Amino acid sequence: MTSPLANIYARLPVAFTHGQGVWLWDAQGRKYLDALAGIGVSCLGHAHPRLVAAISEQAARVIHTSNIYEVPQQTELAARLARLSGMRDVVFNNSGSEANEAAIKLARYYAYQRGNTHAHIITMDSSWHGRTLATLAATGSDKARKGFEPLPSGFIQVPYNDAAAIRAAGDAEPRVAAVLLEALQGEGGIRPSDAAFLRDVRQLCTERGWLLMIDEVQSGIGRTGKWFAHQWADIVPDVMTLAKGLAGGVPIGAMLAAGPAAGVFTPGSHGTTFGGGPLVCAAGLAVLDALESEHLLDNAHAVGGHLKARLAQELAGLPGVAEVRGRGLMLGIELTRPCGVLALRALEAGLLINVTRDRVVRLLPPLVLSRAEADQVVDILAPLIRQFLAEHP
Ligand SMILES: *Cc1c(COP(=O)(O)O)cnc(C)c1O
Repeated sequence: MTSPLANIYARLPVAFTHGQGVWLWDAQGRKYLDALAGIGVSCLGHAHPRLVAAISEQAARVIHTSNIYEVPQQTELAARLARLSGMRDVVFNNSGSEANEAAIKLARYYAYQRGNTHAHIITMDSSWHGRTLATLAATGSDKARKGFEPLPSGFIQVPYNDAAAIRAAGDAEPRVAAVLLEALQGEGGIRPSDAAFLRDVRQLCTERGWLLMIDEVQSGIGRTGKWFAHQWADIVPDVMTLAKGLAGGVPIGAMLAAGPAAGVFTPGSHGTTFGGGPLVCAAGLAVLDALESEHLLDNAHAVGGHLKARLAQELAGLPGVAEVRGRGLMLGIELTRPCGVLALRALEAGLLINVTRDRVVRLLPPLVLSRAEADQVVDILAPLIRQFLAEHP
């Protein structure tokens, strides 16, 4: 019988029954080292006692009320995120796409309040901002967009890491109101931005009265060794979006605003039924507590540095390996040829990874990964890459 599920995912042939730390088990009792964390979501790994307790206790009290009422867990999580980012005006929603959708709406409203009724937003080549219509229009992937036109207008794409291109786009289009970018591109192939680029764009946005909007959906919440990847460049954006790791696996999204973006939304501007409910916000608070008390940002920095160095060492000089790059526990290995099959081969060898942009092996392990576990990742992955390259010279 064919499955009633829509055929939209190329699924690997495995289902997991339970997990512990960075490990997952299938129904046959096979154990897998999870170096992907559900695409950067399960930042505390699996079955983290603090997260399990927070969710269980909150579920036993109340799961959902409504944004018609006060939600103390939401207020507290907003305060924590504001403190960590130096921002304010937190809007909760349910996914990365929705967080970016809110950011796009905010940029348009900001422009509208200043008499610009057709706001343009500059976004980057090979960016990823989601699969809703507006976030698809912002996303730099023709493959994801194809067939879904007409998409919302008002987006201009420029090359990544090129402040001059952003400046030129703004010179050519007077209705630009914002720049949206990832501090470290994820789906686009683990492509880091230069600190100098981020600082130039920050300055340019300030000069021109544009909002600098940074999508930290994948790179935020400690993944790179700082709370937010843009903090490596010592800047503060006007708008930031979060999702994946924020509640350790429970669906959540958040948009934060600051500076000229603060106060743009007013009652009735935006809203959601589910966003920021008691259950997800209790989970988010437990995630932040665990990241802090277990020093997991330092761990991401140290173990990520070790993992990257060991991968670089094991793969050094191999023809077919273009680059090992990334920061903290957000790493990519770019090969010179398509290597999607490596995800299946790694699975068969007991390791969970994925391949993005056809040629980039992506590692987003839980931030609780130990040095010894990082060594296990390398010990499984490096021989698989060597073998793959030997077969595909
Ligand atoms: C995953 C991702 C999104 C989309 O998030 P969803 O929760 O899948 O809607 C947006 N931006 C970035 C940078 C992402 O990595």
